[in-house]
Amino acid sequence: MIASKIEHIGIAVKDLQEARKFYEQILGLECYREETVSDQLVKTAFYQIGNVKIELLEPTTQDSPVAKFIEKRGEGIHHIAFETEDLPQILDKLDRQQVRLIDRHPRAGAEEMQIAFLHPASTHGVLVELCETNRG
Ligand code: ZN
Repeated sequence: MIASKIEHIGIAVKDLQEARKFYEQILGLECYREETVSDQLVKTAFYQIGNVKIELLEPTTQDSPVAKFIEKRGEGIHHIAFETEDLPQILDKLDRQQVRLIDRHPRAGAEEMQIAFLHPASTHGVLVELCETNRG
């Protein structure tokens, strides 16, 4: 099995501080981590809710992929991340199965995870992130 659970849901927002008010003051969640992910040109805020996390994403530059996403589609669900093991091997396997990959090799994501994105053209319209916790 490639995906063992939903690790997090990524939500694109224009203004992180503004979006945090909803999650914290209205929903009552507690942000446990804020992080700038330079590789993806985003500022993030994380919430744990049950077994799943919510990752708010604010673009840090105009040419950030998240900025382009918001420009085209507005704020909203940006990606779903599945937890996986042995990401490099899985990417090889998916490549052989003709799944369209955005990342052919794992790269650094938030929370010290190795991540790779699959293209929505191969996933029925959803940007899928596979992520693997760095162990040891
Ligand atoms: Zn993510």
